Amino acid sequence: MAEGEIAAIGLDVGGSKTAGMVLTAGGAAVEQVRIPTDRSSQESVVAGVVQVAMELLEAAAAGGSEVAAVGVGFAGFIEFARGLVTFSPNMPIRDLPLKNVLEQELSRPVFLDNDANVAALAESRWGAGRRAQHMVQLTLGTGIGGGIIIGRQLYRGGAGSAGEIGHMVISAGGPPCCCGGTGCLEAMASGTAMERMAEEIAAAEPSSSLARLRAEVDRLDVRRLDEAARAGDRLALGIFRQAGRSLGVGIANLINIFNPELVVLSGGVTASFDLMEAYLREAVGETAVGLSRESCEIVLSELEEEEVGARGAALLALELFTPN
Ligand SMILES: [Zn+2]
Repeated sequence: MAEGEIAAIGLDVGGSKTAGMVLTAGGAAVEQVRIPTDRSSQESVVAGVVQVAMELLEAAAAGGSEVAAVGVGFAGFIEFARGLVTFSPNMPIRDLPLKNVLEQELSRPVFLDNDANVAALAESRWGAGRRAQHMVQLTLGTGIGGGIIIGRQLYRGGAGSAGEIGHMVISAGGPPCCCGGTGCLEAMASGTAMERMAEEIAAAEPSSSLARLRAEVDRLDVRRLDEAARAGDRLALGIFRQAGRSLGVGIANLINIFNPELVVLSGGVTASFDLMEAYLREAVGETAVGLSRESCEIVLSELEEEEVGARGAALLALELFTPN
């Protein structure tokens, strides 16, 4: 990087990995670190985040670059204004004031947001969202996250917790969700939801193809279901059809509310997008209305899945940091 060019650290904290990068204001990733997340306790999660940040700070200093600020994209419910992780479905975290903790440890301004929000920010700057003023992003993985971009800015709402698209209710009274509600999009169409559907079918129909597959593998996760569906398994195909329909209804609601030019889908489950696409588009066609439907494109993310979280978090810091 050029001498004196400003840089930020971006940290991506999820249930399986804690990753980070040093990103220059010009958008170049100059250092990267990744460790498994030790989610045995709140303290162990925080220790991992500090460790990754420290390693990046040292590497940046050795490379002669000045890290001005730190951005964090965290897989959980966030209060942006207070810098708080209120709850995480995959980690033992409750009301963790992560922004304050990291500012003390790292002696720099820290900006904390939801992992899907920072992914949407990165997509808007460098990915499919480059050509859109208004965009909604859904991150499809073990859970479903979301980010809403209005006029190229992330929409955060009053307390800074907007964009919980995964907890939009698709079927009131439907399957229970990790948030305490029922029938949320996440409980209907996430990787976890599809695995649950497969387990239910395998248990209810012991002579079914899925029950036979269940006996051979340790879990009926999306990867196994994808393989089975591609080999022609009707029950596995039915699960993708159902998830695709639910996603389509959720996306149609977003289209009706926001009239975005673009809906972007990212995350591991998009590897199976072709198995769901027709049903998803069919449900959007039935549920979204008029001009909003006609003017919206639904596309896949154009960014590297492995990198997008840390990159978006660093962008968050670069955008919000103001030198004094
Ligand atoms: Zn929910």
